Amino acid sequence: MTPFRRIALIGIGLINGSLALALRRRGAVEEIVACARREETRARALELGLCHRAVADPAHAVEGAELVVLGVPPGSMGTVAKAMVPGLDPRAIVTDVGSVKAQIVHDVMPHLPTPSLFVPGHPVAGTEHSGPDAAFETLFQGRRVILTPIEDTDPEAVQRVRGMWELTGALVDTMTPEHHDRVLAITSHLPHLIAYTIVGTVADLEKQTQSEVFKYAAGGFTDFTRIAASDPTMWRDVFLNNREAVLEMLGRFTEDLVRLQRAIRWGDGDTLFELFSRTRAIRRAVIRAGQAYDRLPVPPDAATDNGPASEAAKSAH
Ligand code: NAP
Repeated sequence: MTPFRRIALIGIGLINGSLALALRRRGAVEEIVACARREETRARALELGLCHRAVADPAHAVEGAELVVLGVPPGSMGTVAKAMVPGLDPRAIVTDVGSVKAQIVHDVMPHLPTPSLFVPGHPVAGTEHSGPDAAFETLFQGRRVILTPIEDTDPEAVQRVRGMWELTGALVDTMTPEHHDRVLAITSHLPHLIAYTIVGTVADLEKQTQSEVFKYAAGGFTDFTRIAASDPTMWRDVFLNNREAVLEMLGRFTEDLVRLQRAIRWGDGDTLFELFSRTRAIRRAVIRAGQAYDRLPVPPDAATDNGPASEAAKSAH
Protein backbone atom coordinates (compact mmCIF):
# COMPACT_ATOMS: atom_id res chain seq x y z
CA MET A 1 0.00 0.00 0.00
CA THR A 2 1.26 3.52 -0.81
CA PRO A 3 2.24 5.15 2.50
CA PHE A 4 0.56 8.47 1.59
CA ARG A 5 -2.35 9.13 -0.72
CA ARG A 6 -2.08 12.92 -0.95
CA ILE A 7 0.64 15.18 0.44
CA ALA A 8 0.50 18.99 0.28
CA LEU A 9 3.83 20.82 0.10
CA ILE A 10 3.49 24.47 1.08
CA GLY A 11 6.52 26.04 -0.59
CA ILE A 12 8.26 24.06 -3.29
CA GLY A 13 11.92 25.06 -3.27
CA LEU A 14 15.14 23.25 -2.40
CA ILE A 15 13.83 21.34 0.62
CA ASN A 16 10.23 20.49 -0.25
CA GLY A 17 11.22 19.93 -3.89
CA SER A 18 13.91 17.43 -2.86
CA LEU A 19 11.43 15.73 -0.51
CA ALA A 20 8.96 15.43 -3.38
CA LEU A 21 11.54 13.84 -5.67
CA ALA A 22 12.66 11.38 -2.99
CA LEU A 23 9.11 10.34 -2.12
CA ARG A 24 8.06 10.00 -5.75
CA ARG A 25 11.12 7.88 -6.51
CA ARG A 26 10.15 5.55 -3.66
CA GLY A 27 6.53 5.39 -4.85
CA ALA A 28 5.59 6.64 -1.41
CA VAL A 29 2.82 9.00 -2.46
CA GLU A 30 -0.01 8.93 -4.96
CA GLU A 31 -0.46 12.68 -5.36
CA ILE A 32 1.62 15.72 -4.43
CA VAL A 33 0.00 19.16 -4.46
CA ALA A 34 2.43 22.07 -4.21
CA CYS A 35 1.79 25.65 -3.17
CA ALA A 36 3.86 28.73 -4.09
CA ARG A 37 2.99 32.39 -4.50
CA ARG A 38 4.59 32.96 -7.88
CA GLU A 39 3.34 31.51 -11.14
CA GLU A 40 6.94 30.91 -12.34
CA THR A 41 7.67 28.78 -9.25
CA ARG A 42 4.53 26.70 -9.77
CA ALA A 43 5.21 26.23 -13.49
CA ARG A 44 8.80 25.17 -12.84
CA ALA A 45 7.76 22.73 -10.08
CA LEU A 46 5.36 21.06 -12.52
CA GLU A 47 7.96 20.98 -15.32
CA LEU A 48 10.51 19.37 -13.02
CA GLY A 49 8.01 16.74 -11.88
CA LEU A 50 8.09 17.89 -8.24
CA CYS A 51 4.29 17.74 -8.00
CA HIS A 52 1.14 16.69 -9.79
CA ARG A 53 -0.64 20.00 -9.22
CA ALA A 54 0.55 23.45 -8.15
CA VAL A 55 -1.69 26.14 -6.70
CA ALA A 56 -1.30 29.61 -5.16
CA ASP A 57 -3.77 29.33 -2.28
CA PRO A 58 -2.56 27.32 0.75
CA ALA A 59 -6.17 26.43 1.73
CA HIS A 60 -6.77 25.01 -1.72
CA ALA A 61 -3.46 23.12 -1.64
CA VAL A 62 -4.21 21.23 1.59
CA GLU A 63 -7.72 20.10 0.64
CA GLY A 64 -7.92 16.32 1.03
CA ALA A 65 -4.25 16.03 2.07
CA GLU A 66 -3.44 13.55 4.84
CA LEU A 67 0.01 15.12 5.35
CA VAL A 68 1.05 18.76 4.96
CA VAL A 69 4.70 19.85 4.89
CA LEU A 70 5.40 23.55 5.47
CA GLY A 71 8.55 24.48 3.52
CA VAL A 72 8.53 28.30 3.38
CA PRO A 73 11.03 30.65 5.13
CA PRO A 74 10.81 30.46 8.94
CA GLY A 75 9.23 33.91 9.26
CA SER A 76 6.33 32.94 6.94
CA MET A 77 5.37 29.66 8.64
CA GLY A 78 2.68 31.21 10.88
CA THR A 79 1.12 33.14 8.00
CA VAL A 80 0.84 30.13 5.70
CA ALA A 81 -0.44 27.93 8.55
CA LYS A 82 -3.22 30.43 9.19
CA ALA A 83 -4.01 30.73 5.48
CA MET A 84 -4.28 26.97 4.94
CA VAL A 85 -6.64 26.23 7.84
CA PRO A 86 -9.94 26.73 5.94
CA GLY A 87 -9.01 23.81 3.66
CA LEU A 88 -7.32 21.59 6.24
CA ASP A 89 -8.79 18.26 7.32
CA PRO A 90 -8.64 18.21 11.16
CA ARG A 91 -7.26 14.65 10.91
CA ALA A 92 -4.35 15.75 8.69
CA ILE A 93 -0.82 15.56 10.06
CA VAL A 94 1.12 18.82 9.67
CA THR A 95 4.91 19.03 9.78
CA ASP A 96 7.48 21.62 8.74
CA VAL A 97 11.11 21.75 7.63
CA GLY A 98 12.13 25.09 9.16
CA SER A 99 15.66 25.67 10.44
CA VAL A 100 14.47 27.01 13.81
CA LYS A 101 11.97 25.22 15.96
CA ALA A 102 10.65 26.92 19.13
CA GLN A 103 9.46 30.06 17.32
CA ILE A 104 7.80 28.01 14.56
CA VAL A 105 5.97 25.89 17.14
CA HIS A 106 4.82 29.15 18.73
CA ASP A 107 3.75 30.66 15.37
CA VAL A 108 2.06 27.63 13.80
CA MET A 109 0.34 25.62 16.53
CA PRO A 110 -2.29 28.15 17.63
CA HIS A 111 -3.77 28.21 14.11
CA LEU A 112 -4.22 24.45 13.73
CA PRO A 113 -7.55 22.70 14.34
CA THR A 114 -5.71 19.73 15.90
CA PRO A 115 -2.46 21.03 17.43
CA SER A 116 -1.47 17.54 18.63
CA LEU A 117 -1.07 16.52 14.97
CA PHE A 118 1.68 19.10 14.39
CA VAL A 119 5.10 17.42 14.26
CA PRO A 120 7.81 20.08 13.94
CA GLY A 121 10.88 18.96 11.99
CA HIS A 122 14.18 20.08 10.48
CA PRO A 123 16.17 18.15 7.87
CA VAL A 124 19.82 18.96 8.60
CA ALA A 125 20.76 19.01 4.94
CA GLY A 126 20.92 21.72 2.33
CA THR A 127 22.89 23.74 -0.16
CA GLU A 128 23.27 27.47 -0.77
CA HIS A 129 20.85 27.22 -3.73
CA SER A 130 17.14 27.94 -3.62
CA GLY A 131 13.97 27.37 -5.59
CA PRO A 132 12.57 24.33 -7.42
CA ASP A 133 15.61 24.04 -9.70
CA ALA A 134 17.87 23.47 -6.69
CA ALA A 135 15.97 20.33 -5.63
CA PHE A 136 17.59 16.92 -5.99
CA GLU A 137 16.39 13.49 -5.05
CA THR A 138 19.24 12.34 -2.82
CA LEU A 139 19.59 15.46 -0.66
CA PHE A 140 18.49 13.67 2.51
CA GLN A 141 20.23 10.35 1.98
CA GLY A 142 22.32 9.55 5.04
CA ARG A 143 21.56 12.96 6.55
CA ARG A 144 19.96 13.73 9.91
CA VAL A 145 16.41 14.91 10.35
CA ILE A 146 15.47 16.29 13.77
CA LEU A 147 11.86 16.03 14.89
CA THR A 148 10.91 18.21 17.86
CA PRO A 149 7.56 16.97 19.16
CA ILE A 150 6.23 18.64 22.28
CA GLU A 151 4.49 17.00 25.22
CA ASP A 152 1.05 16.87 23.62
CA THR A 153 2.17 15.73 20.17
CA ASP A 154 0.43 12.54 19.05
CA PRO A 155 3.03 9.70 19.03
CA GLU A 156 1.39 8.09 16.01
CA ALA A 157 1.76 11.32 14.03
CA VAL A 158 5.45 11.43 15.01
CA GLN A 159 5.83 7.85 13.76
CA ARG A 160 4.27 8.68 10.40
CA VAL A 161 6.51 11.71 9.88
CA ARG A 162 9.52 9.66 10.96
CA GLY A 163 8.48 7.00 8.43
CA MET A 164 8.25 9.61 5.67
CA TRP A 165 11.80 10.85 6.31
CA GLU A 166 13.19 7.34 6.58
CA LEU A 167 11.82 6.68 3.09
CA THR A 168 14.13 9.45 1.82
CA GLY A 169 17.13 7.69 3.38
CA ALA A 170 17.43 10.12 6.30
CA LEU A 171 18.34 9.24 9.90
CA VAL A 172 15.74 10.61 12.28
CA ASP A 173 16.40 11.94 15.80
CA THR A 174 14.03 13.61 18.25
CA MET A 175 14.67 16.37 20.80
CA THR A 176 12.83 19.34 22.27
CA PRO A 177 12.46 22.49 20.13
CA GLU A 178 14.56 24.49 22.60
CA HIS A 179 17.37 21.96 22.60
CA HIS A 180 17.32 21.87 18.80
CA ASP A 181 17.66 25.66 18.67
CA ARG A 182 20.68 25.68 21.00
CA VAL A 183 22.44 22.90 19.12
CA LEU A 184 21.79 24.44 15.71
CA ALA A 185 22.79 27.91 16.94
CA ILE A 186 26.34 26.66 17.37
CA THR A 187 26.58 24.07 14.57
CA SER A 188 24.78 26.02 11.87
CA HIS A 189 23.65 29.53 12.68
CA LEU A 190 26.90 30.88 14.15
CA PRO A 191 29.04 29.53 11.25
CA HIS A 192 26.70 31.28 8.82
CA LEU A 193 26.93 34.52 10.77
CA ILE A 194 30.73 34.32 10.71
CA ALA A 195 30.72 33.69 6.97
CA TYR A 196 28.37 36.61 6.32
CA THR A 197 30.62 38.84 8.46
CA ILE A 198 33.91 37.83 6.88
CA VAL A 199 32.62 38.17 3.35
CA GLY A 200 31.09 41.57 4.21
CA THR A 201 34.37 42.77 5.74
CA VAL A 202 36.43 41.64 2.76
CA ALA A 203 33.96 43.12 0.28
CA ASP A 204 34.20 46.51 2.06
CA LEU A 205 37.98 46.28 2.04
CA GLU A 206 38.04 45.52 -1.66
CA LYS A 207 35.81 48.53 -2.34
CA GLN A 208 37.84 50.90 -0.17
CA THR A 209 41.28 49.96 -1.36
CA GLN A 210 40.51 48.91 -4.92
CA SER A 211 42.87 46.12 -4.01
CA GLU A 212 43.26 42.65 -5.40
CA VAL A 213 41.66 40.96 -2.42
CA PHE A 214 39.16 39.03 -4.55
CA LYS A 215 41.76 37.99 -7.09
CA TYR A 216 44.08 36.49 -4.52
CA ALA A 217 41.46 35.23 -2.09
CA ALA A 218 42.67 31.73 -1.36
CA GLY A 219 40.68 28.67 -0.29
CA GLY A 220 39.53 29.92 3.08
CA PHE A 221 37.79 33.02 1.79
CA THR A 222 36.28 31.22 -1.20
CA ASP A 223 34.71 28.66 1.14
CA PHE A 224 33.17 31.46 3.16
CA THR A 225 31.73 33.10 0.04
CA ARG A 226 29.85 29.90 -0.76
CA ILE A 227 28.20 29.85 2.66
CA ALA A 228 27.54 33.58 2.52
CA ALA A 229 25.69 33.06 -0.77
CA SER A 230 22.86 31.33 1.14
CA ASP A 231 19.33 32.65 0.80
CA PRO A 232 19.05 36.10 2.49
CA THR A 233 15.35 35.76 3.36
CA MET A 234 15.76 32.41 5.04
CA TRP A 235 18.85 33.45 7.00
CA ARG A 236 17.39 36.77 8.09
CA ASP A 237 14.46 34.76 9.46
CA VAL A 238 16.75 32.23 11.16
CA PHE A 239 18.57 34.92 13.15
CA LEU A 240 15.40 36.82 14.04
CA ASN A 241 13.64 33.62 15.13
CA ASN A 242 16.48 32.05 17.12
CA ARG A 243 17.65 35.25 18.71
CA GLU A 244 18.38 34.09 22.28
CA ALA A 245 20.38 30.98 21.42
CA VAL A 246 22.37 32.76 18.70
CA LEU A 247 23.19 35.70 20.97
CA GLU A 248 24.36 33.31 23.69
CA MET A 249 26.65 31.41 21.30
CA LEU A 250 27.86 34.67 19.79
CA GLY A 251 28.82 35.88 23.27
CA ARG A 252 30.92 32.79 23.88
CA PHE A 253 32.49 33.03 20.44
CA THR A 254 33.39 36.68 20.96
CA GLU A 255 35.16 35.87 24.23
CA ASP A 256 37.16 33.12 22.53
CA LEU A 257 38.05 35.42 19.66
CA VAL A 258 39.36 38.06 22.05
CA ARG A 259 41.47 35.39 23.75
CA LEU A 260 43.07 34.54 20.39
CA GLN A 261 43.54 38.21 19.57
CA ARG A 262 45.42 38.58 22.85
CA ALA A 263 47.53 35.50 22.17
CA ILE A 264 48.57 36.88 18.78
CA ARG A 265 49.31 40.32 20.23
CA TRP A 266 51.52 38.86 23.01
CA GLY A 267 53.21 36.29 20.79
CA ASP A 268 51.68 33.47 22.83
CA GLY A 269 52.29 30.61 20.37
CA ASP A 270 51.45 27.94 22.93
CA THR A 271 47.84 29.11 23.22
CA LEU A 272 47.45 29.14 19.45
CA PHE A 273 49.12 25.75 19.00
CA GLU A 274 47.05 24.17 21.78
CA LEU A 275 43.77 25.40 20.26
CA PHE A 276 44.67 24.39 16.71
CA SER A 277 45.62 20.89 17.92
CA ARG A 278 42.35 20.57 19.80
CA THR A 279 40.31 21.64 16.77
CA ARG A 280 42.03 19.03 14.61
CA ALA A 281 40.82 16.37 17.03
CA ILE A 282 37.31 17.83 16.83
CA ARG A 283 37.38 17.49 13.07
CA ARG A 284 38.11 13.78 13.49
CA ALA A 285 35.26 13.45 16.00
CA VAL A 286 32.86 15.12 13.57
CA ILE A 287 33.85 12.67 10.87
CA ARG A 288 33.23 9.78 13.23
CA ALA A 289 29.80 11.19 14.08
CA GLY A 290 28.95 10.65 10.44
CA GLN A 291 27.95 14.18 9.57
CA ALA A 292 31.14 15.18 7.73
CA TYR A 293 31.91 15.56 4.07
CA ASP A 294 34.51 12.83 4.02
CA ARG A 295 31.89 10.22 3.35
CA LEU A 296 31.05 12.05 0.15
CA PRO A 297 32.75 11.43 -3.17
CA VAL A 298 34.29 14.92 -3.41
CA PRO A 299 37.00 16.54 -1.28
CA PRO A 300 35.69 18.07 1.93
CA ASP A 301 34.42 21.62 1.70
CA ALA A 302 34.29 24.26 4.42
CA ALA A 303 33.16 22.88 7.76
CA THR A 304 29.82 24.63 7.79
CA ASP A 305 26.24 24.24 6.97
CA ASN A 306 25.85 24.51 3.30
CA GLY A 307 27.21 22.48 0.48
CA PRO A 308 27.75 23.23 -3.18
CA ALA A 309 25.00 22.54 -5.66
CA SER A 310 25.96 19.00 -6.58
CA GLU A 311 24.55 16.00 -4.86
CA ALA A 312 28.02 15.13 -3.68
CA ALA A 313 28.23 18.31 -1.75
CA LYS A 314 24.99 18.17 0.20
CA SER A 315 25.65 19.19 3.72
CA ALA A 316 24.34 19.90 7.16
CA HIS A 317 22.06 22.85 7.49
P1 NAP B 1 13.43 27.96 -1.10
O1 NAP B 1 14.21 27.06 -1.97
O2 NAP B 1 13.63 29.43 -1.19
O3 NAP B 1 11.88 27.65 -1.29
C1 NAP B 1 10.88 28.33 -0.62
C2 NAP B 1 9.55 28.04 -1.30
O4 NAP B 1 8.51 28.64 -0.57
C3 NAP B 1 9.44 28.56 -2.71
O5 NAP B 1 8.70 27.64 -3.47
C4 NAP B 1 8.63 29.86 -2.57
O6 NAP B 1 7.96 30.10 -3.78
C5 NAP B 1 7.72 29.44 -1.44
N1 NAP B 1 7.23 30.51 -0.58
C6 NAP B 1 7.94 31.45 0.06
N2 NAP B 1 7.14 32.21 0.82
C7 NAP B 1 5.90 31.70 0.66
C8 NAP B 1 4.64 32.05 1.19
N3 NAP B 1 4.50 33.07 2.04
N4 NAP B 1 3.55 31.31 0.82
C9 NAP B 1 3.68 30.26 -0.02
N5 NAP B 1 4.88 29.90 -0.56
C10 NAP B 1 5.94 30.63 -0.22
O7 NAP B 1 13.64 27.60 0.44
P2 NAP B 1 14.26 26.26 1.09
O8 NAP B 1 15.73 26.37 1.08
O9 NAP B 1 13.60 25.08 0.49
O10 NAP B 1 13.82 26.48 2.60
C11 NAP B 1 12.51 26.18 3.02
C12 NAP B 1 12.53 25.93 4.52
O11 NAP B 1 13.45 24.89 4.78
C13 NAP B 1 12.97 27.12 5.35
O12 NAP B 1 12.12 27.24 6.48
C14 NAP B 1 14.37 26.78 5.79
O13 NAP B 1 14.65 27.29 7.09
C15 NAP B 1 14.35 25.26 5.81
N6 NAP B 1 15.64 24.62 5.52
C16 NAP B 1 16.43 25.10 4.53
C17 NAP B 1 17.64 24.48 4.28
C18 NAP B 1 18.57 24.98 3.18
O14 NAP B 1 19.71 24.53 3.10
N7 NAP B 1 18.13 25.85 2.31
C19 NAP B 1 18.02 23.35 5.02
C20 NAP B 1 17.15 22.86 6.00
C21 NAP B 1 15.95 23.51 6.24
P3 NAP B 1 7.36 31.57 -4.11
O15 NAP B 1 8.47 32.53 -3.86
O16 NAP B 1 6.95 31.48 -5.54
O17 NAP B 1 6.21 31.72 -3.19
